[in-house]
Amino acid sequence: MKKPMHHPILISFVSSISFVFSVFLCCFFLSTGSADGQTAPRLKKSSPLHRARQSAEFAAQAQPRNIILLVGDGMGATQIYAGMVAGRQELNLERFRHLGYSKTHSFDDLITDSGAGATAFSIGKKAFNGAIGVDSDTMACETILETAARMGKRTGVVVTSSVTHATPASFLAHVPDREMHEEIARQIMESKVDLIIGAGKKYFDQRKDGRALTANMRERGFYTAFDSASLVQIPKGSRLAALLWDKEAPKMSEGRGDFLPTSTRLALEHLNDSTKGFFLMVEGSQIDWGGHANDADYIVREMIDFDRAIGVALDFAAQDGQTLVVVTADHETGGFAINGGDWSSGRIEAAFTTKKHTGVMVPVFAYGPGAHAFTGIQDNTSIYKHMMRMWGFTASSPWPWRKSAPEKPRRSDTAE
Ligand SMILES: [Zn+2]
Repeated sequence: MKKPMHHPILISFVSSISFVFSVFLCCFFLSTGSADGQTAPRLKKSSPLHRARQSAEFAAQAQPRNIILLVGDGMGATQIYAGMVAGRQELNLERFRHLGYSKTHSFDDLITDSGAGATAFSIGKKAFNGAIGVDSDTMACETILETAARMGKRTGVVVTSSVTHATPASFLAHVPDREMHEEIARQIMESKVDLIIGAGKKYFDQRKDGRALTANMRERGFYTAFDSASLVQIPKGSRLAALLWDKEAPKMSEGRGDFLPTSTRLALEHLNDSTKGFFLMVEGSQIDWGGHANDADYIVREMIDFDRAIGVALDFAAQDGQTLVVVTADHETGGFAINGGDWSSGRIEAAFTTKKHTGVMVPVFAYGPGAHAFTGIQDNTSIYKHMMRMWGFTASSPWPWRKSAPEKPRRSDTAE
């Protein structure tokens, strides 16, 4: 076949045209001030020029230095909309311009649990329900958090549940059963993570084996904090294990206050200390629990709280310019529907189809370098694959390690 000829004059004509077109687009962005397609952060410093420039930079630079993954456990589209209606406020989620959907089924079930759901994000493989950081052969696979640590990036996890709960555990540990809280705690103690903030102190310090893991963690360079007052002065350069409650964090309605957005901000300050960047996973853990309880007020309060943490992440990313923010859910919970209500008063008539999870697709939101990859309808495992690809891992890269996970104990042997 004859190769097509590229005439030099034709090339220079095409580049002139594209230059003129870019200038035109730029002028268009400047005149409308909101047409950049990527950014909608409510930045004080934001100007149309700043945003247009940032958008161009994001397109050119598909390799984010930092990744913040925010998981709203049980957060379907209705949970989000209920937060907007009943909260009578615009959510930070409305600042995103790159949106998609994720298919949530696990290896063995159309309806996933949070273990298999988060494992799809952490190792990019479908797992059995209840699995934590292992593939469908229950082989432990390196999680994206562990890969980030191996790359010299700093890593952290912030949650409103126990840090040993299914979602955070899937990034930090490898066990075949999510109920193995004490084993998960032991693996967290031995992990390379730089920061954990959440609940679950009892799994570290009131154990069947009598060990006090937080003492081991201090030996390994962790600063341990068991109340929020101790978080004011974290020694520079230390790792942080903040376990503020024995088992789970209280609900928003029980006075959790601004724990999640404040801890997200603290984590970003703490992790943004390295030239190599960081990986941070933040979970709004209790949106799911509101769904299980079929309690619309519980869902709305947790949803708005999670959205405030999203706002903190977006503000950071907008300032930083090298941070990818991805927000999604592992599954929907409750079959939550809005069957009526009133926009102006924020009243919603909530309905539920189940006290369990459902099998619907869940939304994906992305902002920052590489955000365009998260648009469209994709499998939940693609979220991992895109993040890894942006950090230079391709299908031909040597696959991160895989090894046998601890044996699954008989149910009578588990902690609960
Ligand atoms: Zn659940």
